[in-house]
Amino acid sequence: MSIDPTSPEANSTPEQIPDVIVNNDRPHIPELRIPEARDGFFGYTEEKSLQQLEERYLLHRRGSDAPSDKTAGLLSGLKLTTIPPPGPSTVTPRSPTDAHSDTDDDENSPNRTHPEPHKPESILSSEFSTLLQSFQRCLDLRDKYMLKSRQRLGDDPRHYDGHFHQINDEHAGVAGIRPDSDLSGFLKKNQDDQVPNNTTENQENGGVQDEGPSPPFNPWKIYPEPPPPHWHWTDKEKVVSSSNRHPSPGQAADEFNFEECEIPGGHEWSFKIDDTGVYQVYDDTHPGEGETKKPAFDIPGIREYFVDLDYVLAVIADGPTKSFAFRRLKYLASKFTMYSLLNEFQELTDMKSVPHRDFYNVRKVDTHVHHSSSMNQKHLLRFIKSKMKRSPNDVVIFRDGAYLTLEQVFQSLKLTAYELSIDTLDMHAHSDSFHRFDKFNLKYNPIGESRLREIFLKTDNYIRGRYLAELTREVMIDLEQSKYQNCEWRLSIYGRSIDEWDKLAKWIVRNKLYSHNVRWLIQIPRLYEVYKANGSVKTFEDIVINVFQPLFEVTKDPRSHPELHVFLQRVVGFDTVDDESKVERRIHKKFPYPRLWDTNLSPPYSYWVYYMFANIASLNNWRRLRGFNTFVFRPHCGEAGDTDHLTSAFLTSHSISHGILLRKVPALQYLFYLKQIGIAMSPLSNNALFLTYERNPLPDFFKTGLNVSLSTDDPLQFHFTKEPLLEEYSVAAHIYKLPQSSLAELARNSVIQSGFEMEVKRHWLGHEWYLPGAAGNDINKTNVPDIRLAFRHQTLLEELNLVRSGEMPQINSVSAEVTSEQQRAGKSPRNSLDAGAARAMAQAQYSR
Ligand SMILES: [Zn+2]
Repeated sequence: MSIDPTSPEANSTPEQIPDVIVNNDRPHIPELRIPEARDGFFGYTEEKSLQQLEERYLLHRRGSDAPSDKTAGLLSGLKLTTIPPPGPSTVTPRSPTDAHSDTDDDENSPNRTHPEPHKPESILSSEFSTLLQSFQRCLDLRDKYMLKSRQRLGDDPRHYDGHFHQINDEHAGVAGIRPDSDLSGFLKKNQDDQVPNNTTENQENGGVQDEGPSPPFNPWKIYPEPPPPHWHWTDKEKVVSSSNRHPSPGQAADEFNFEECEIPGGHEWSFKIDDTGVYQVYDDTHPGEGETKKPAFDIPGIREYFVDLDYVLAVIADGPTKSFAFRRLKYLASKFTMYSLLNEFQELTDMKSVPHRDFYNVRKVDTHVHHSSSMNQKHLLRFIKSKMKRSPNDVVIFRDGAYLTLEQVFQSLKLTAYELSIDTLDMHAHSDSFHRFDKFNLKYNPIGESRLREIFLKTDNYIRGRYLAELTREVMIDLEQSKYQNCEWRLSIYGRSIDEWDKLAKWIVRNKLYSHNVRWLIQIPRLYEVYKANGSVKTFEDIVINVFQPLFEVTKDPRSHPELHVFLQRVVGFDTVDDESKVERRIHKKFPYPRLWDTNLSPPYSYWVYYMFANIASLNNWRRLRGFNTFVFRPHCGEAGDTDHLTSAFLTSHSISHGILLRKVPALQYLFYLKQIGIAMSPLSNNALFLTYERNPLPDFFKTGLNVSLSTDDPLQFHFTKEPLLEEYSVAAHIYKLPQSSLAELARNSVIQSGFEMEVKRHWLGHEWYLPGAAGNDINKTNVPDIRLAFRHQTLLEELNLVRSGEMPQINSVSAEVTSEQQRAGKSPRNSLDAGAARAMAQAQYSR
């Protein structure tokens, strides 16, 4: 969650009192109506009143078991799991007086109309369907944003590995093929082509790659090539110690060589930032009529975004919706517990029957880790000491008008190598940083000295980031030796100057920071107010330009920034970071566009997110057109702050980091579940900063079926061992009592969420990993039991069907579910898949 340390200003971000408050008294300024944050939280009082309602309801029920036509209109959201479907024969027995007494107490639905005593079902179902329609609308909104920003499976040329063919829009989801896709067409085609796989759970063995037109892209070439399927780490660089800073010349076959990279030519289209602060791309070969050129790609405008955001905020703040979602989530979690009780032994048997594979050799990706704190403290300390011993005469910094050698720096600190210890380094985040993000950021300074941070942890300093590059290589070698652990490291682009990208790319290329186990994300710290205060930028638009202009330039003509072009091929996506707990003061009723944003205060989270999203969307469309890889947006979100942070991420983001606040916003959590939005969680990091370990919602999210993974965030501050990711899994396994099957599922999730190329993911997860449920699983690679994924898939389908159908659920027991699934299966091809899954479930559950 941290701000990258590479900015010394990040230490102190004092809240500044705006001297000029509002902009909207200026004439003729285009302004944006930004929705107010609404309360989507579901707190203690709401839970209590829900409980009271329930108790009363049950109390009233006891007396009347006789069937009756009366029903509890207002409680539709509260008792879904027991209420029968609207129909002439079966209606919940209730008397009209009950309905009214409950109504008066129902604080959650003040605006709802009282049911007509003589037509209860229709009102009940219409209320209910309105509620479900609002959920469906939210899901559709997210689909729109994902489609337009090209963040789905099949949108990135890196997904095309020679086996994967194009899939059409109705199948493309963010984390794979959409779970509710009708794969029967594929199934049929597949039967024509090859003998289908006959395992019980693999009922959907859809050969999706046999469907659709030929792929729009040539197979993506990963350079340097990934290792062959069976490989062992070899010490190709001899002994890598800190003294041996350049790899020995024994060039390995998979070593990166900039000269071998192909740099494509230019493109005739042009780009320009528009009045609203979004880069637009124009097709100059077909100029529009008249003066007005139309942008080539349809990017949602900021007004549209705020209208949509407002809609979702309204939905998640609605009382009955909150209660409904709270109910469903509880139901889902309990259902998982039930599933575990029934299938624990079967899962264990399945896992035992897999040769070779176990927790240690399933692939894991650290989906959220900041590069400059990717090494542990012991490692950094060892590195600093060896530098002091072996190269004390390196000129490392220019300070106060003088060039200082490393020795002189340490003399000025009155320290020798011998005296340095973990304790003097003082970079661990302890109890003193809990709820003190400001203090935490200071922890990035070794020995509390920003000078050492400048020397050892910066990519752009007097020694051109040489020490950090050497340190990075060492961490990479540790990762490669571990073989099964992989990282997505965040590097910072601040947006203070336009040449940051080139410097960063040159640092990567010059130092050959390439590893099979590492991909990069770019994090944009939201530090507008800091840059504004020290004069680096005038308006918010300056930041947008500094961050995005070089990317559009390199997309138009890679020859303009060749190193950047090559570096970007290993960049997975974007992140944005800062302390979310900072109060967002609403100084504007209406917000100005970026070029007019010149107050001292930083724009709110939702505004930042829009400008990240819209420019990435525009960029992605152009890059895809050119056959260059695209980027996803995976911001830090929901670590603290308001519900609108998570809501804006719901619309715009591929996946998020943290998300711990979802525990308080049930409706949004339900939406995250339905869309299977990836959440990279870091309980150890939260434990040091925002939420104690035992209260972390990770185990609940996991039970519910959210797409969660484990990540380390900042090993330098939080972890003790050489393998921080394993440490993270280990603590979670101990405290949350996660069985091996769940650890394997978390590891599988982490690979799916990650941005590793299709070719790599196939090797790690199975040939058709993107198919929903058990069909996409290969237990020989993932060690996740098929029945686990069949259960997850079936459960998700039921929820999606519930929301789509807009009808009340008719779930009374597991067996009833299975039966109804089978009954419905006969009607539509879509459900034949559900039936298959249901059968597998039924077999798994009742065959013993
Ligand atoms: Zn982080």
